[in-house]
Amino acid sequence: MLESLQTLVLQVRPYGEAHRLVTLLTRERSVVRAIAHRAQLQHNHLYAATQELARSLLQLRLAGDSLATVTQGTLLDNYTELRVDMDKLVYSSAVMELLINVDQSGGRVSSVDLFDDVIAGLDRMRQSFSPRFVLAHLQLSLLPNFGVALSIADCARCGAKLESSTEFSFKSGGFLCTQCAVRAAELRHVVLVPGVWRVMKQMSGQRIAHTGRVNLRVETEEQVCDLLTVCLRDYAGVSLRSLRVAAQLHGLDGEPVQPLQGNPGSADLGGAKEEGLGDA
Ligand SMILES: [Zn+2]
Repeated sequence: MLESLQTLVLQVRPYGEAHRLVTLLTRERSVVRAIAHRAQLQHNHLYAATQELARSLLQLRLAGDSLATVTQGTLLDNYTELRVDMDKLVYSSAVMELLINVDQSGGRVSSVDLFDDVIAGLDRMRQSFSPRFVLAHLQLSLLPNFGVALSIADCARCGAKLESSTEFSFKSGGFLCTQCAVRAAELRHVVLVPGVWRVMKQMSGQRIAHTGRVNLRVETEEQVCDLLTVCLRDYAGVSLRSLRVAAQLHGLDGEPVQPLQGNPGSADLGGAKEEGLGDA
């Protein structure tokens, strides 16, 4: 069966002398593995369209559970801006790595939503939004795919609706109300800055494509990102190699991760403005 699919190339492995084994995120069929014959050869018509981190329209011959075959390909976007910036490259690689893990999960997020979120995320990274925060937003929206449901709107222990929270319990799987945090020391909770809960509540209620200007303090962004990385590791067993590279990079140059920037068009980002996510 021949089918034309919108794809993002997540991973490329050489296969034999000249072929490529590619792992694709497709808009229509979630993750698909395929062989691209002779695509390692630079003059081959599939060479550009089957590179890692390429968005392409690929025609595939699908064969049930067996490997598909790429028969034709048109490169739509090769994300040059992400390839030439070390920080963006590392975080976009982390996105690819994260998505490969989705393959083994239950796939509760629809493939169309997943694909559109990822493309919107890569576009945001390209536009100089903090690549680390974009990854965190994707991590949060993918948690249901790994069977993980964090309690953000309600207390993870007693279920009371939260108006705010500074306590996160890894044992209970979410944020806690003040009473539970006081009463249950055995819940092993961590104390976070107040902005973290509000920002995560906004993130969980907003698709990446619909997110506008983001204005966060550095410590809020750092805690949101760290929290989601630990949640993925502890609850879903997903540990991204690319993030270790990112940590090494920042360790080497001694520079902290850049704080989030607003839309280039909006110049009213004052320090007094309340932090959070805007609408697109
Ligand atoms: Zn409670």
